[in-house]
Amino acid sequence: MQNDPGQVQGLNLVWAASARPSKRLSEEQKAQRKKKKETGTCPRCKKLKRVCEEYRANLYLPCVYCMTSKPKSITETCQLVANLLEIKFFRLGPPTDNSSHPLNFFRHRSNVFNVTNDPLAETLNIELTQDVGCSLHLKVSRFAADPNDKLAYEGNTRGVPYRLEMPPYCIGDIAAAERSIVQYMIQAKGSYFLQFLDKSNSLLRMTFDIICKRPMTSLVHKAMDIWAATRLIERTWKLCGTETFGIHPTNRDDDPWIGHVPVTPIMDQQLDQVVIQKILRPRRGILLRELKLRMYSDDLRKKNMFDIYLTLLILLNNAEMHLAGEREFALRYGFGGRYGPFGKYRDAQEQFHAARTMLGHFHYICRANDIFDMTPDYLSKHLALTTMEVQYLAWLKTYVKTEKVNMALIREQDQYETTGYWFHQMFDKQWKPGTGYIKEIVEKGAVVR
Ligand SMILES: [Zn+2]
Ligand SMILES: [Zn+2]
Repeated sequence: MQNDPGQVQGLNLVWAASARPSKRLSEEQKAQRKKKKETGTCPRCKKLKRVCEEYRANLYLPCVYCMTSKPKSITETCQLVANLLEIKFFRLGPPTDNSSHPLNFFRHRSNVFNVTNDPLAETLNIELTQDVGCSLHLKVSRFAADPNDKLAYEGNTRGVPYRLEMPPYCIGDIAAAERSIVQYMIQAKGSYFLQFLDKSNSLLRMTFDIICKRPMTSLVHKAMDIWAATRLIERTWKLCGTETFGIHPTNRDDDPWIGHVPVTPIMDQQLDQVVIQKILRPRRGILLRELKLRMYSDDLRKKNMFDIYLTLLILLNNAEMHLAGEREFALRYGFGGRYGPFGKYRDAQEQFHAARTMLGHFHYICRANDIFDMTPDYLSKHLALTTMEVQYLAWLKTYVKTEKVNMALIREQDQYETTGYWFHQMFDKQWKPGTGYIKEIVEKGAVVR
């Protein structure tokens, strides 16, 4: 409304439906928005204020942008959902979920470290071996056995039952045993590598050779400790000195301990637990913290690329050996399934998770796989590698080319326990984590449905 000179006197507003239809989300858009909420934004896209896609869609891969962007443009690192600090390389003890498990003897004891603290207990000095040319010296004490304690080994070898009664001896002084085992490990570590590293694999052989010739760095050193100590808990301890608890070894074919006397069942668990709790656990924590720091730091990443590569190669080979051990265990005790009881599958899954977490970080977080494309000149100038290390990487290039078809086949056929199944995946520039479940072994001739 206006008066004569054109001044506004008032407004007459009419509320009506807007000409523009309200923005209703389609089902597809709703689903997209929900997914976005779940997948979130990675730290790098947040910093760069850009749209982040597929973050958290896969535990072991970064977002779409960080997956494809060049390492030089890294200003803030993407962070994988799989946390490097939480991965496990070794079992924590005998499984407690299956009462029929052949190693599940001491579920009734909450702690196998304090079986006896009797200062007047009768003691014996024993000598143990795992056939690597070094021996472990221990003092063991006689203890008052609980009615539930397992004191004999019994079972069945090729249809013939066996029973081996053992006297009640245990490790009384755990701290002294720990000192002896650490001493033993320092002395025997190299022998474990020489004896159990798969020398039929030329890459492992050449890598071990190069590791021995360079100054030992903290990362590689700890990875080697973990590799060697894991063998300590996989292998059988045998008595090798004059003291054999009054038991004489037999040469019978049906005797599972043909030619030697084993440690008592409680000692077997105590030795495992000393290695796991006192040696493996603390080293794992320090190693993973150091590794994470080097992988996520712009300054340290490049300087440590070769070290990161060596460390991961040792740990990924450890995963293959662990899985091969689990498979052997299932076969030895006649369990169905690839790894036998559920507890063993859980251990195997931990190894899968650890290997994939390391590979995801190697390829897409620290991009240490760039080391395989660098020129000799660049490697010596910017990464301070020695001539020998540069030559090793040149040899590696040829090796990867020659082995390409074989490497792809091992992976395609899910040969998890074969040497190289995991560490070969460091050379695949298009690396993807693969399926999230363990595939069973299809027996030859079986029909796959
Ligand atoms: Zn992102
Ligand atoms: Zn990202």
